[in-house]
Amino acid sequence: MHNGGEPHPLEEISMSLFGSKCVRCGSRTRQTYQDKPTCDPCRRELELALVAAKEEKRQCPADGVTLTKEIAHGIVIDRCPQCSGVWLDAGELERMNTDAAVDAISAMSYALPRV
Ligand SMILES: [Zn+2]
Ligand SMILES: [Zn+2]
Repeated sequence: MHNGGEPHPLEEISMSLFGSKCVRCGSRTRQTYQDKPTCDPCRRELELALVAAKEEKRQCPADGVTLTKEIAHGIVIDRCPQCSGVWLDAGELERMNTDAAVDAISAMSYALPRV
């Protein structure tokens, strides 16, 4: 008696062979996060985003506008939507090594709009 259910679609078979596409960056991964294929770096960022969401919002020291949380290079930064200032928690810079800090800061300043 044949009792096998639906045959697997080809896509599902190739996914099990090669891993799934990360829902965030599209790279192949066998890791999942909350039942969605998510590569390691993206999973770390998602976890950080959850941590960031629980942190209290801060105001920009320059103009008092509420800062928005962003994840950059594995750390949580506060960015001001008004003046594009970037603020780090005490200790966040120390958590990066010096080279990563330099990279992160230059990447952030490249992202700033030129006025
Ligand atoms: Zn990814
Ligand atoms: Zn500001």
